[in-house]
Amino acid sequence: MKKNTSRRTFIADSAKATLAITAGLTAGGSLMEACAAPKHIIFSPFATGFIQEPLPYGYNALEKAIDTMTMEIHYTKHAGAYSANVQDAAKAEGVDMTRPLEEVLGKISKYSAKMRNNGGGHYNHELFWKSMTANSTEKPSGKLLLAIESSFNSFDAFKTQFTDAGKNRFGSGWAWLFLDGDKKLRIGSTPNQDNPLMDISEIKGMPVLGLDVWEHAYYLRYQNKRPDYIASWWKVVNWDFIQKRYDSFL
Ligand code: MN
Repeated sequence: MKKNTSRRTFIADSAKATLAITAGLTAGGSLMEACAAPKHIIFSPFATGFIQEPLPYGYNALEKAIDTMTMEIHYTKHAGAYSANVQDAAKAEGVDMTRPLEEVLGKISKYSAKMRNNGGGHYNHELFWKSMTANSTEKPSGKLLLAIESSFNSFDAFKTQFTDAGKNRFGSGWAWLFLDGDKKLRIGSTPNQDNPLMDISEIKGMPVLGLDVWEHAYYLRYQNKRPDYIASWWKVVNWDFIQKRYDSFL
């Protein structure tokens, strides 16, 4: 109950943030200075808070791709810790937690390593859980499918390029489909818990879809075979959610 209330408040606040930023850009004055956000950051109803949201399915729901124990440990221990730690960092560094986490990530170079690692970790996992479902359509439709086909030639070519981004990320990190500052779809990867929102990231944009390729995401079932994990993961992508998210950024 409390969570729903704060979620609604949060969405209302992020809408206000969009208005404030729009007003600031129009005025071109000090308001813009105060609310300045990098060009690649788009505030939408999909903005992210600091508290870990409930997993939208059971730990066993994604068994065709990810085993139950991995899901439970990953959600409760790894992701739970990122959420707790980003809240600690926010308190210590004077961050207003009623504002979208995206605002902090966009200027992460101004904050601590604790904020970078845990703010990124929390954001990335909140997106990751929602990006999966037991009832995947295995392919998008609508504007997102058209944009993927025009950007990468075909849906299969997109899957290959995204898979390679995940396979070739050395060590721990994430593969991304993201919208750049010109709203073009791009594929890339980031190390550790970085993401394209961060001002320190080599790739910059709004994350549309992210894949966790840390060993903790797949090692119990797939051991060293990251490509096998990625091949299975495509069977649980929640394209309905990803399409709505993409549409909200246009
Ligand atoms: Mn993870």
